[in-house]
Amino acid sequence: MSKFDNTFDSAKRYFDAAAAKTGEVIGSSKLKVERSQIRTRINSLYARLGRAYYASRNGNAEEEALIDKILEKLEGAMSDLEDVEVLIASSKSIKCPICGKKNSAGVDFCKECGMSLYDDEEEF
Ligand SMILES: [Zn+2]
Repeated sequence: MSKFDNTFDSAKRYFDAAAAKTGEVIGSSKLKVERSQIRTRINSLYARLGRAYYASRNGNAEEEALIDKILEKLEGAMSDLEDVEVLIASSKSIKCPICGKKNSAGVDFCKECGMSLYDDEEEF
């Protein structure tokens, strides 16, 4: 087994664990961490894909054989990202940064204290 195969196998295990995680009901901050991890994973898959493509252009058949697998993983990661985006968008409530009151998603201002719930909408 080559070094690349080992790397690929550990990447696959990581993906399977992450996919299982996105199936759980988790908080919005955890979802955002998850989203950032998936984006990192997508970036490293793009890099890996580039290396495999480059090596295959130079006649490395072993690397060429990996391209489809990497693409498959990339599609999986993009699908995970979509799932997480949907979960984030449908998060039931948003917590006021000042008073801590939970407000329903979609409102701009806290129903308790009137604070803007989105940092980028109001400058201090
Ligand atoms: Zn508030």
